[in-house]
Amino acid sequence: MRISVIGCGYLGAVHAAGMAELGHDVIGIDVDAQKIAALARAEAPFYEPGLPELLRAHRSRLLFTTDVAAARDARVHFIAVGTPQRHDSPAADTRFVDAAVDALLPYLAPGHLVVGKSTVPVGTAERLAARVRPTGARLVWNPEFLREGRAVDDTLHPDRLVYGVDGDDETSVALLDAVYAAPLAAGTPRMVTDLATAQLVKTAANAFLATKISFINAMAEVAEASGADVTQLADAIGLDARIGRAFLNAGLGFGGGCLPKDIRAFRARGDELGVGEALSFLGEVDSINLRRRTRVVDVLEHELGPLIGRRIAVLGLAFKPDSDDVRDSPALAVVQLLRERGAVVVATDPVAIETARLRDPLPTYVETVEQALDGAEAVVLATEWAEYRGLDPVVAGSGVANRLVVDARNALDVDRWREAGWVVRGLGRAHASRVEDPRSVQREPEHAAERQPDHV
Ligand code: NAD
Repeated sequence: MRISVIGCGYLGAVHAAGMAELGHDVIGIDVDAQKIAALARAEAPFYEPGLPELLRAHRSRLLFTTDVAAARDARVHFIAVGTPQRHDSPAADTRFVDAAVDALLPYLAPGHLVVGKSTVPVGTAERLAARVRPTGARLVWNPEFLREGRAVDDTLHPDRLVYGVDGDDETSVALLDAVYAAPLAAGTPRMVTDLATAQLVKTAANAFLATKISFINAMAEVAEASGADVTQLADAIGLDARIGRAFLNAGLGFGGGCLPKDIRAFRARGDELGVGEALSFLGEVDSINLRRRTRVVDVLEHELGPLIGRRIAVLGLAFKPDSDDVRDSPALAVVQLLRERGAVVVATDPVAIETARLRDPLPTYVETVEQALDGAEAVVLATEWAEYRGLDPVVAGSGVANRLVVDARNALDVDRWREAGWVVRGLGRAHASRVEDPRSVQREPEHAAERQPDHV
């Protein structure tokens, strides 16, 4: 089938390449000429494992252009443009979605299907469906649940497919089933809902994940104050099948281009709908999350005294491993907070230096861990990349001026680092991070270092 994908960012570029892998002919459209030029050369404009390979493998089935008129040859049109936080409020800025649909309208015809994938405030799809209807085309909302870093696999093998349809519309369901024939044949569950439910499924899922992360980070605050260890607490409560261990990794919290803006937009939409009270807890979820960033800096200050002129190495800039995305990155926020307190920050990341530099050119970025550690008076593990989790503490210790590490992701093997002469401070681990009263060392959970990072 011939498909267009409008918006070729983290979501759209992977979706376009994924649809080509499923056997479709795809026209990828974006207003960003640089991004389109890279994609046309079969180069991924951002870091996403597996994406360059797909782009190269399906060159013959992928066309990238800035000209929306090219969509006239397609029958199914995916809308994958951004819905960032508005500059003047916590709500979502849906102007890009509106603009993309408006630009598409002249090329729509009866039998065409517009498929919304962007995350939008509930009610947006209904508004857009009314605009699409006079062309004879139909609209379905098909929210996207991919995780950056695993986006290719999530696109090809999604956990579930949700189709929000406009009234009774079996034709659109059948058309979308044909697009997703391969994952459906492989057993992917598919749910058909109304438009409102489909939009809410996405925001509710993100609200739940954010709440789970902030819950354990709230427990981390209590653990720090009471002498407990939040990683052991998480292991123990996570063994309860009703709770589960995933998304209970206490640390620096969530960030990125989705969760923070999505919970704010959800709350703002709740206010508009008159159900603000039901979603007010998301304000606390947000606050707990943001407090972790200052906590890291406070722990450092407690250890070193005033940070003015102190050289701090920050390992990690991306909001999570396996991505170069620094939108609302907790790691980059720590870099900025440290600089505000006068520290000399030297930061590194395996892939996110360029995206970080675009967002904030002021900090010193270096290419390698060795350069970052050289002469450092403290080290912060801010993004739990596998290569940082697996660092040899003896080697790492050879270049620093002072063996102090703040493990802001609770990802290091504390015993190993201590044996190599490091002072290790974690978050929510009283013996590793308690500022007031560092007590006797307690047992580490045996599998702490093997724990996989959560991906949102
Ligand atoms: P992004 O900023 O990486 O990409 C958005 C793209 O849309 C940009 O390349 C931009 O140039 C393009 N664009 C804007 N207006 C356009 C227009 N009128 N016509 C054509 N292109 C236009 O954002 P993203 O991370 O890909 O997110 C896109 C949407 O998907 C958001 O609603 C987001 O919440 C949702 N989403 C993202 C992820 C993720 O992991 N990134 C996961 C699920 C859902």
